[in-house]
Amino acid sequence: MRRLTFCTCLFLASCLLLAMISGTAQAQTPAALTVIRAGSLIDGTSDAARKNQLIFVRGNRIEKVADASSAQIPAGATVIDLSSSTVLPGLIDSHTHIFLWGEDPAKGGYDENILKAGIALRAARATFACRRALEQGFTTLRDVETEGAGYGDVEIKQAIAEGTIPGPRLFCATRAISTTGGYNLEGYAPELDMPRGAQLVDGPVEARKAARQQLEHGADWIKVYMTHRSWVDKQGNLVSQPTLTVEELKAIVDEVHGWQRKVACHAYNGIGLQRALDGGCDSIEHGLEITDAQIAQMARQGTWYCPTLSPYYDDWSAADTPEGKRDRARAAVHEISFKKAMQAHLKIVFGTDMGGIPWTEPLAQEFPRMVGLGMPPMDAIQSATSRAADMLEMKGEIGVLAPGAYADVIAVSGDPLKDINVLAHVRFVMHDGSVFKNEPAK
Ligand SMILES: [Zn+2]
Repeated sequence: MRRLTFCTCLFLASCLLLAMISGTAQAQTPAALTVIRAGSLIDGTSDAARKNQLIFVRGNRIEKVADASSAQIPAGATVIDLSSSTVLPGLIDSHTHIFLWGEDPAKGGYDENILKAGIALRAARATFACRRALEQGFTTLRDVETEGAGYGDVEIKQAIAEGTIPGPRLFCATRAISTTGGYNLEGYAPELDMPRGAQLVDGPVEARKAARQQLEHGADWIKVYMTHRSWVDKQGNLVSQPTLTVEELKAIVDEVHGWQRKVACHAYNGIGLQRALDGGCDSIEHGLEITDAQIAQMARQGTWYCPTLSPYYDDWSAADTPEGKRDRARAAVHEISFKKAMQAHLKIVFGTDMGGIPWTEPLAQEFPRMVGLGMPPMDAIQSATSRAADMLEMKGEIGVLAPGAYADVIAVSGDPLKDINVLAHVRFVMHDGSVFKNEPAK
C-alpha cells in the first residue's frame, strides 16, 4: 500500500468533515408542511364525518388533524383546498390480481393470460393496473396471486417503491397454492405438460415447501385455493370441488404463521370451505355459501371475510345452460351469506377480484353492491379503510386519517354517506405524501 502524505491525509479529513456537516444539515431540515382543507372528513374509524377539518402532512406522514376553527395554518405551508369535497383515507382493495387481464370467454378466457402474453406484456399490463387503482383512490392493494406470472408482483412492488412506476402499496401473495386437478390451465391433451396459474402441491410436505418457497421470494401473504370447480347438482344445490386436505392446509398455515404472515383461502362452500376453517385460514375469499355453523366458527376464530360480490353478478351464461344455472345459484347464495355475515358482525373487508373483472372497469363498483345488500355506507367505507388495515397488520398506519398515519388521502365531490356511488369519481389522490391527482371540484 502506498503511504499517504500529510497533505493527502488533511484533504481526506476535510472531505470527511464536510460530508458529516452536510449529512447533519440534511437530517435536521424538517420536511415541508402541507395542509389540506377538508370540507368534510371521514377519517376511516369514526362513526360520523366531521366538517371543516385541517390535515397537516409532513413528509409522507400525517402530523395532525385539527378543526379549522381552532387551528392556525403556519406561514409557508402549502395549502391544498378541498373545502368543497369529502376527504377520506386512501382506499384498500383486499382482493385483486394485477397480472390478470380479464377472463372474458369471447376474448379467449383465462387461458389467454398465460398462453398468449409473455412476461413483458404481462408486466406492462400489471403496471397499467397499478396506475388504474391509484387514480381511482386505491392506495393499497392486497394482490392475491399472479396467475402464472411467478413472482412478478414482488418486482412490481419494488418498481413502485423505488419510484419507477406509480402504484399503490402492494401486499403480494406471489404464485398461490392448489392441488393436482385444482387449477387452470386444464382441458388440454393429457400428454401436454401445461403451465398452471398456481403452484400445485400434493401432501403436507410439498404444501409446506411451496409456502416456504413463496415466503422466501417475498410473499407478504400466502393464497390457497380450497375449492376449484363448481356446479349445480340434481337437487339444485351449489357444489364445489374441494382441493387441499386439512392436513395439507395445516402444514401451510403452521409455516406461514411461523413467519408471522397470514393465509388467504379461496373457498366457495361445502367441504372445501369447512377444511379452510378447520385448517386455520385467516381470511375466507368469496365465501359464496357459508352455513350458520361456519359463520359461528368464523366469529369464534376471528376469520376475515372478503366476499368479492361484483364478479358474481357479471357475465352470466344463458339461464338454460349448466353454466347459467351455476352462475345464478352462486349469486343467490352469496347474498344470503353476506347478510348472515353482517348480522354476525364478522370482519368483512372490501375486495373486488379486479383482473377477473377487466382493469378498465371501476374498482368502486363493489361499494354499491355491499350497500345494496344492506351494509351501511360508513361500514362499507371502513371495510375498505381501517378494517382492511387491521387485517393487513397496518392498523393506525393506513386506512385512517390520524396523526402518525401514512399520508394516503383522497377526496370526492359529494357525500358518500348519502350516495355511495360518488366513490367512483375520486378527484384527488395523495399517496405517501405526494399528490398523484388533483382535478378541479365539480
Ligand atoms: Zn381472485
